[in-house]
Amino acid sequence: MPTQSSFKHRLPAIKGFIETSFVDWAGKIAAVVFLPGCNFRCPMCHNHELVLHPEAISNYPFEVIVDSLNQHQGWIDGVCITGGEPTNHPNLDRLLAEFKGLGLPVKLDTNGSRPDVLAHLLAQGQVDYVAMDVKAQLNDISYSQVIGGPAPLASIKQSLELIRSGGVDYEFRTTVVPGLHRLDDIQRLAEQLAGAKRWRIQNFSPAQALDPEYLVRFPFSEEEFAVLKSYELGRDRI
Ligand code: SF4
Repeated sequence: MPTQSSFKHRLPAIKGFIETSFVDWAGKIAAVVFLPGCNFRCPMCHNHELVLHPEAISNYPFEVIVDSLNQHQGWIDGVCITGGEPTNHPNLDRLLAEFKGLGLPVKLDTNGSRPDVLAHLLAQGQVDYVAMDVKAQLNDISYSQVIGGPAPLASIKQSLELIRSGGVDYEFRTTVVPGLHRLDDIQRLAEQLAGAKRWRIQNFSPAQALDPEYLVRFPFSEEEFAVLKSYELGRDRI
């Protein structure tokens, strides 16, 4: 019979923690938990230390996080699990069960590459909100360019369908980057996501980009971005 402490040792390593955030779960105050590593290499990624060199970041003690969550009960609305890519971690379900056990709703950020994990979490009722990055229009060339490697397009499409039909609240989101996205890409993606409950478009920020070339790349101008953003879906645009 595993002890409580051996059970804790099987939880995914946590590399960062924010006690209260007003920006990671729209309309809510959330604690944020960062998990290491990712199977994508998006050149505009601003969490590249977490993606490329997670071993250089100390683990955040799980007990400290639990203490903080308990202290903030009644003040925070839930816990946002982000990364990196959380679904790559074995035992992610156990981590989410710990947070749900504290009575806290869970939001999961994902790149959608692990529909098997997503299906399990949805079936187990372990997530209350899913935010999936949809990196580009759904074809191999466009997607591979934005994620910096071969695109698991079938998995991405499967995740999109799972989330749409999963019975939990959700959003899709796309970061638009000059040189990676053109207006017709976003128009095509709008067609492919038609009927989605919510699709948010955000402008690229060069700060801390993974690919050094993107550190000096400008975001879309206000005028250009306004046109791209007009394709967002969902009445409650954020
Ligand atoms: S932007 Fe997201 S999916 Fe892309 S490399 Fe960074 S963590 Fe991974």
